[in-house]
Amino acid sequence: MAFQEEEISLSLYSSCFLLSLISKDFALIPIRSRKPFVVTIDPGHGGKDPGATGKKTVEKKLTLAIGLKVGHYIESMMDNVKVVYTRSTDVFIPLDERANIANQNRSDLFISIHVDGFKSSTPKGTSSFVMGTSKTSVNFDLVKRENRVITLEDNYQEKYENFDPNDPASYIKFNLYQSVNLKQSLLFATLVQDELRVKAQRVDRGVSQEPFMVLWRTTMPSVLVETGFISNPQEEEFLITENGQNIIATSIFTAIRKYRQDLDDSDEDKAGISTARQSDSFAQERLNRIIEAERIRTEQFQTEKDTARPGSLESKGTPVKVNVENKNSTPKAGEIEFRIQILASTRPLAPSAPDFKGRKGFEAIKLDGYYKYMTRPVKTYPEALALRKELSTLFKGAFIVAFKGGIRVPLNEAVGE
Ligand SMILES: [Zn+2]
Repeated sequence: MAFQEEEISLSLYSSCFLLSLISKDFALIPIRSRKPFVVTIDPGHGGKDPGATGKKTVEKKLTLAIGLKVGHYIESMMDNVKVVYTRSTDVFIPLDERANIANQNRSDLFISIHVDGFKSSTPKGTSSFVMGTSKTSVNFDLVKRENRVITLEDNYQEKYENFDPNDPASYIKFNLYQSVNLKQSLLFATLVQDELRVKAQRVDRGVSQEPFMVLWRTTMPSVLVETGFISNPQEEEFLITENGQNIIATSIFTAIRKYRQDLDDSDEDKAGISTARQSDSFAQERLNRIIEAERIRTEQFQTEKDTARPGSLESKGTPVKVNVENKNSTPKAGEIEFRIQILASTRPLAPSAPDFKGRKGFEAIKLDGYYKYMTRPVKTYPEALALRKELSTLFKGAFIVAFKGGIRVPLNEAVGE
């Protein structure tokens, strides 16, 4: 089946190539002569592996439904494409086989679709991951759970070089992992999260690098997306409905289309068709945004009790002495204060900078080589929550930071007092 498709696409490719040669000679409209854009869609889990379980359904059913919809949208709305599924029915496929399928089909993009699950019903939202080493251990439970499926495979120890998905020491080898596709993977992951946040109105848990085995051996830009929490009743309800699945699938599809457009634009740039190097600067801008968001999120995860996954390996962050530049009072020893951080910059910003969106009264605190812009302190956590809520309409990533006697402390420590 795959062989036949390959043949068809090859013959299409050569005839298009021929046509484009002819068109040059006869000054006809040029015809796209490129190889089809191949997308491998990987609906997570399947067969004997149900994935995460909810009250009403299991992960493998949702990932398959969403995956098939994404493929259908691609085939009906994009030209010169080929969709490959790692599975299109309820079957068990080993993780390395999923990567093999993508590689053998010379895919341009690989997307593994999953649904998150957690022991508490509170967490919600979507996240996208690219292969790499964790910056924090906040996602370790998720990584373990998704990787643990290899233990259902025959000879898994041999196949995965004695990798034990439950043992943190096993993950050390990924410190050496480097991918030539990292930048493109990050770009695609950001597009997916942008669509899920804006179009699908999902809570955005961001883009991170994590050692997911299914992404390990793919040789093209690859992303794993967690489309929501099956353990959260509202999100399970959303994902179970046709409408919810359509919304998620449309978002992923739109991200794929934008990603390909981005590639086409930069090809045109290279060919000298467009003189503006817009695509590259857009790409760089997005990448900067990811890096900054990743950094802020890391801090947020380290300090926020409700977003951290209990049982993670994380040790408490070491308090850092802050250097408040334009502060009028010094807090007493042991005094708890809260601030809302709205942004961070490597350079100091003028009070009139557009980053502040016309709001005044923020203070710069120098920390870890960054100028962190925060509100003036408030004394109680409820005040901080209200302030954060108010500011988050203007500053999407705004979060609460706690201080004790002027020294930064984890938020849960401050709230507990
Ligand atoms: Zn999964």
